[in-house]
Amino acid sequence: MPRSVSVPVASSASSLSRTEESVRATDLSGTGIGCGGPLDSASGLLIAPTHLPGWVDIPVTRLAEERFGLPAVLENDGTAGTAGEWRFGAGRSAEYRHLLYLTISTGVGCGLVLDGRTFRGVARRGNGGEPGHVTVRPGGRRCVRCSRVGCLEAHARLRHVHRPARRRRRRTGLPPG
Ligand SMILES: [Zn+2]
Repeated sequence: MPRSVSVPVASSASSLSRTEESVRATDLSGTGIGCGGPLDSASGLLIAPTHLPGWVDIPVTRLAEERFGLPAVLENDGTAGTAGEWRFGAGRSAEYRHLLYLTISTGVGCGLVLDGRTFRGVARRGNGGEPGHVTVRPGGRRCVRCSRVGCLEAHARLRHVHRPARRRRRRTGLPPG
């Protein structure tokens, strides 16, 4: 395991205890960790998240359990966001049976609720419905994460959306939106 991995986990725990004064440690019943994949949510293992170079086979739930002394679970961040929207947000409605959640930030993630159940993909390991490295433009940009050409992330992650917007804003003189 890379040494640098244990440092951010430890400092995050310290930050939580210092900054979240309204949350007492005794109020917590567990730790939920959302992260980009690939990962194995069933075993709590970060396999090799494309946005965290060097984080290979990290037992992140075990590290969190050791640090906080509470049970920990790992979920793909797109799936975690989907579950949050399904229960508390835009998908919270008895009339919906299905929900597609897209997250565009450092990458392009996705989560699915199908027939009222969170979809986790093959063997329910947490990598289901991930579109980031699907080829959308053959011959397009080389993806810095997977090295293939024309991935959705190579064309649509947040910095690729922001850059043209900034150029257009400069050209048109419109204020930031
Ligand atoms: Zn890619």
